[in-house]
Amino acid sequence: MSERPGAAQRCDVAIVGGGIVGLAVARELILRHPRAAVCVLERETALGTHQSSHNSGVVHAGIYYKPGSLKARLCVEGARELYSYCAERGIACERCGKLIVATDRSELPRLQELERRATANGVPGVRRIDAAEIERIEPHARGIAALHSPETGVVDFPAVTRAFARDILDSGGAIVTACEVRDVATTSRSLRLVHGSGALEADHAIFCAGAWADRLAVAAGASPDPRIVPFRGAYLRLVPERRDLVRSHIYPVPDPSLPFLGAHLSRHIDGEVLLGPTALIALARDAYSARTARRRDVLDTLAWPGTWRMLARWWRTGVSELHHAVVRAAVARAGARYVPELGAADVRPAFAGVRAQALGRDGALLDDFVFSTTPRALHVRNAPSPGATASLAIARHVIDEAQRAFGLEA
Ligand SMILES: Cc1cc2nc3c(=O)[nH]c(=O)nc-3n(C[C@H](O)[C@H](O)[C@H](O)COP(=O)(O)OP(=O)(O)OC[C@H]3O[C@@H](n4cnc5c(N)ncnc54)[C@H](O)[C@@H]3O)c2cc1C
Repeated sequence: MSERPGAAQRCDVAIVGGGIVGLAVARELILRHPRAAVCVLERETALGTHQSSHNSGVVHAGIYYKPGSLKARLCVEGARELYSYCAERGIACERCGKLIVATDRSELPRLQELERRATANGVPGVRRIDAAEIERIEPHARGIAALHSPETGVVDFPAVTRAFARDILDSGGAIVTACEVRDVATTSRSLRLVHGSGALEADHAIFCAGAWADRLAVAAGASPDPRIVPFRGAYLRLVPERRDLVRSHIYPVPDPSLPFLGAHLSRHIDGEVLLGPTALIALARDAYSARTARRRDVLDTLAWPGTWRMLARWWRTGVSELHHAVVRAAVARAGARYVPELGAADVRPAFAGVRAQALGRDGALLDDFVFSTTPRALHVRNAPSPGATASLAIARHVIDEAQRAFGLEA
């Protein structure tokens, strides 16, 4: 599928990062500008190696996000576009629905706030249900009230990533793997992207580098704020005999300050049921194993003032997540809050993902999608969940911005 690193030496627009966002952006660009020479550079030997293939596989409907935020708009639009794209391409996906379950009266005000947000964001079909209806939809789940979202679904994100790559190649774009961009030099006429086998000269570049987004942005002249701090999220899987405990997705009511926390039960497109993820600061930006540690990544995290400010604020949550990461039975107990029949013997370790979380100098965990520009370049600096769901809509937004910033004709 891909060319050798030496093959590409010049292009009009380079896209750095071959995850689902980078590929969606390259695809959108080439569809709008068929005559532009577009080249994707990816550091790994395969596309979609990082977040795009290590996630929950959920098509989010757009319930959680603050009305008016980019996440709210791009998730709702992106989910709609993703379902149509998958239908067109015959990619496995299903609108299986989701319950956000309250088990305690203290959670009801937050459930009500989520319902308000869902309505404000234009999420189709979300409604409040009672304990009896929870059991009708998910016979093994228990709660005092829930939100039911029929439009939430499940999809094969790696298959979507491959389909985007196919679209790029079919439209004449180039994709180069095993090509890590190590430096960026900007002149008045072009950008020089220095990689292991030489350099690519481009009029403009769009950086979609996930966990490495901050380093490339700084290399191109941007501010170091926000920094990416990696969070490792480990999943458990239900043993095959217990998969029938969960039909679709069962989520807790999230804490609005830390919306990405809280283990959920979700049915994957292959029928597997996952429980997780945990969320613990990782010692490497690719810490798929808990033992992986990289000196530069650790130093970058420790040297960032925001890390210490965040820890001072959230250390209790950190201790609880550490407990979940170490004690498998504790995660099973968290799941049993929603599915009481679930026990520690019903789960096995599955895989882990590493979340590229942008953290401000002031210790704020950036929630919304963040984009910025430097001369001749546009940077995707924070594209956490639901970035995969929203990828087609993010791509439209990024190319709109790039047309303005680069003066490309529509
Ligand atoms: C645990 C977890 C669960 C999630 N669950 C969901 C979910 O259920 N639904 C959902 O919609 N979203 C989910 N997400 C979020 C979603 O996975 C991400 O928003 C999305 O994958 C981001 O895509 P990306 O292309 O920006 O990042 P990535 O997939 O990480 O891609 C970035 C790419 O850039 C490449 N790169 C980096 N540096 C360089 C360089 N110097 N030179 C060349 N290439 C470079 C990397 O190798 C990588 O391939 C989850 C994320 C995590 C971590």
